[in-house]
Amino acid sequence: MPPTPTYQRSRQLLATPLTHIRGVGPRLLQILEKAGLKTVEDALYHLPHRYEDRREMRRIAQLRDGRQEVFVGEVLASGETLTSRTRKRLYEVVVGDGSGQVSLKWFHYRKEWLKKRFPIGARAVFTGEVKRFGAVREIHHPDAELLGDKTLEQVVAEDPLSFGRILPVYPLTEGLSQKVARKIFKQIIDEFAPSAVSPVPADILRKHQFPPLAEALRDCHWPEHPGPDFDLDGGASRPRSALVYDEFFFLELGLALKRRGVVLEPGIAFAVTHKYTRPLAGMLPYRLTDAQRRVLGEIKADMMAPHPMNRLVQGDVGSGKTIVALMAALIAIENQTQVAVIAPTEILAEQHFLQFHGWLDKLGLRALLLSGSLSAKDKAEAQARIKAGEADLVVGTHAVLQEGVEFKRLGLGIIDEQHRFGVLQRGLLRHKGENPDILVMTATPIPRTLSLTLYGDLALSVIDELPPGRTPIQTRVLPENRRQEGYRLIRKELEQGRQAYLVYPLVEESEKSDLLAATAAMESLRKDIFPDRRLGLLHGRLKPQEKEAVMTAFKNREIDLLVATTVIEVGIDVPNASVMMVEHAERFGLAQLHQLRGRVGRGAQQSYCLLMQSIRCSEDGRRRLEVMAETNDGFRIAEADLEIRGPGEFLGTRQAGLPDFRVANLLRDGRILELARTEAFRLAQDPAFLTATQYAETRQALLDRWGSRLELASIG
Ligand code: ADP
Ligand code: MG
Repeated sequence: MPPTPTYQRSRQLLATPLTHIRGVGPRLLQILEKAGLKTVEDALYHLPHRYEDRREMRRIAQLRDGRQEVFVGEVLASGETLTSRTRKRLYEVVVGDGSGQVSLKWFHYRKEWLKKRFPIGARAVFTGEVKRFGAVREIHHPDAELLGDKTLEQVVAEDPLSFGRILPVYPLTEGLSQKVARKIFKQIIDEFAPSAVSPVPADILRKHQFPPLAEALRDCHWPEHPGPDFDLDGGASRPRSALVYDEFFFLELGLALKRRGVVLEPGIAFAVTHKYTRPLAGMLPYRLTDAQRRVLGEIKADMMAPHPMNRLVQGDVGSGKTIVALMAALIAIENQTQVAVIAPTEILAEQHFLQFHGWLDKLGLRALLLSGSLSAKDKAEAQARIKAGEADLVVGTHAVLQEGVEFKRLGLGIIDEQHRFGVLQRGLLRHKGENPDILVMTATPIPRTLSLTLYGDLALSVIDELPPGRTPIQTRVLPENRRQEGYRLIRKELEQGRQAYLVYPLVEESEKSDLLAATAAMESLRKDIFPDRRLGLLHGRLKPQEKEAVMTAFKNREIDLLVATTVIEVGIDVPNASVMMVEHAERFGLAQLHQLRGRVGRGAQQSYCLLMQSIRCSEDGRRRLEVMAETNDGFRIAEADLEIRGPGEFLGTRQAGLPDFRVANLLRDGRILELARTEAFRLAQDPAFLTATQYAETRQALLDRWGSRLELASIG
């Protein structure tokens, strides 16, 4: 064994371009490059997506149903035919070995190619999953390695690599057979995998009994000691876990340092005087829930500490985040500092303003709304008041983050519905003051594994309890032909003095057509369906005052049925509304539907959500609506969303600023993420980490993986 190289040397070796590899010609290079593989390291991490079990060959008579099997057979019949039921074309090859027969079927194929490949009498090693239909056994789209005129023994002797073991199956681009791929990757692994070094500190690897990186890489390609229940689909295995751990460890280490950087900076140490919070608590028509109380306690502890707070409050729709935020705001105001509250939409900003303004007025404090649509003169005046410290609390949209807005002394920044904002906004807000405390709130129930990565640098508080007396919302999916049923339910609710929402999706990417759909619907509803009811229309193109007028009218029950575009999606709070009908519900994403649905079910009465399903609804759309009908639990919905869309989509651009994963899968590998997080955060706390030579390689690896993103992240 050559001595283990240093991390630095290992980096150099692994950066060897594939052009330098013996046996990789221009054609092969082109194929590899197309798959994104340029260096040895790329190839090492190009892991098999599944495996083929060739430990044991079977006679055809002994093939087991539902298992992936390997056997040698001779072609007895070969040709195109039709399926019995649907009369679709397929290609069928019947093979036998003296012990029995099995039928091989292709449903997507090039006929000439198959015909030439499998003439009668041809012999091959076949691999595939055996299915049984009554008395008949079939294998669909099997793999085949033709024997030509050689015996099996000859073939095995010539190519021992391909028999008697578990083989990797690579995700490949066209033009490269598994056989060639195995050969070339094997060569690269044999030559270079021993040089791979993980700078995860050795004691941590030992503690979790992970194999060294070199061994893990080799075993992921060519499993050395596969057990009887080896996961052929490429899932869990010790070597794979080691690679995942490696990726997560550096992700979490980066996040931990970001967090530590913020924690160590000086910030405002607020005093909790109860000057305003106690009177507010006295005025509230309810008691805070235990969860609200606990979270508020966590926030208070952060605010009293002489470092900036960086805390995320996560709570399902309706869990009562607003009042918690208001309490935090009052603590900041008690300390003669200002508070900025940022909401993603004008409507929500206005609603927060109305609510905060209401409470602050009673306490003799001053709230101000900084809307994006103020006239230049009003805006200048508002900005002057903020700068002079004449506003204790400023509510607004992105407008608050704009350059001209300066605070006299910003003590606390609150971002509502954080998922709508990026990491950058948090940074901008921070720079509006001198290391103010930051509180971000989100209802997007992000699965724990994801929130650890997305918000890994934030301390997390969870409001995991809804205020008492809520009745779970009943959700029904209604196809178009049951529309009248929906209207009947709405009518019944309205008769009982309740109110209703009717929501339209953004039909196209233009607000104009969006508006047209809602307006047209409004007309027909007014004329034909609810002529005796008061209808209101709310959409993005109304002027702020108009929107506010409509919202206020709805709140004051002067409107029974509010027809709205998705502007009502977040945050709107009218507890008397008990039914919502969502048109073209399948066009919405799950997170959005859950948010929308959260507009009802805010009082004690039974509430309903009616999801209208169009005739042309995709399979994914159908699945989403099913999930909605099945559960009200935001966390379950988010998990389902993640499953349907996959992490890339789910995270969208918000993932920007985080390193990519080559092996790890956030859905599957949550447990490993938590392990890695614990160790990484412990290491980041160790004062020696940033200086001791023992950690020099770990620090270097951290920089390599994060690059400049570590800095970008540190402003967050
Ligand atoms: P979200 O967490 O979705 O922002 P809100 O803060 O808008 O939820 O609160 C939802 C509703 O619950 C509001 O009407 C609010 O007044 C009410 N609420 C909040 N806390 C409590 C509580 N402890 N008991 C009863 N009602 C509460
Ligand atoms: Mg809210």
